[in-house]
Amino acid sequence: MNSLQEIARLVERCTDCPLSRSRTNSVPGEGPADAEIMFIGEGPGYHEDRQGRPFVGPAGQFLEGLLASIGTGRERVFIANMVKCRPPENRDPLPAEIAACSKYLDRQIELVNPRLIVTLGRFSLGRFFPGESISRARGKVREKDGRYIYPVMHPAAALYRQELRATIIEDFKAIPSILRAMGDAAPASPAISREESPPPAQLSLF
Ligand code: URA
Ligand code: SF4
Repeated sequence: MNSLQEIARLVERCTDCPLSRSRTNSVPGEGPADAEIMFIGEGPGYHEDRQGRPFVGPAGQFLEGLLASIGTGRERVFIANMVKCRPPENRDPLPAEIAACSKYLDRQIELVNPRLIVTLGRFSLGRFFPGESISRARGKVREKDGRYIYPVMHPAAALYRQELRATIIEDFKAIPSILRAMGDAAPASPAISREESPPPAQLSLF
């Protein structure tokens, strides 16, 4: 898998787990190949399954508002999910399904090589910090395997609960200063040299 396009093609016809049988469309994820930030959700819901695109339903609208609140937009970030096909009735993805699908997300992370990964909800938190509770992990940026990981709640969970809503808005508000504080100290992959890094002006969200 040498490009995001190739991953998307493979995901489109993947039958490596039972979710392939109930999906309408798989949802590879989308965004610029050089995105600074990658958001990782759980899996497609009804609207995503219909359209083949991530976060296009109500949770996606909320996510777009959160992105706007920090001066960016969905076309400037990479948006992916733990599983690329919708679990029936939006049930939780099973460990075997997550395991079967992880090769795609792993490679997307390698290729995009984002400066910051924002995990949305407990499943993508679990990819980096297995067994940790989202209520304790959220809002704190941490390093894992040479990457900066910033766990926040899932927008769908925060959408209709006022107290969680305030928390996720606050957690998003911290993202620009996290990026600034990271500066050149980001645990950048050795695949990216300083010369290839974008100039500082482009690193800013504003
Ligand atoms: N929820 C997710 O976790 N991912 C999507 O793409 C949409 C809703
Ligand atoms: Fe393949 Fe992932 Fe879809 Fe399962 S969820 S069929 S592993 S793309």
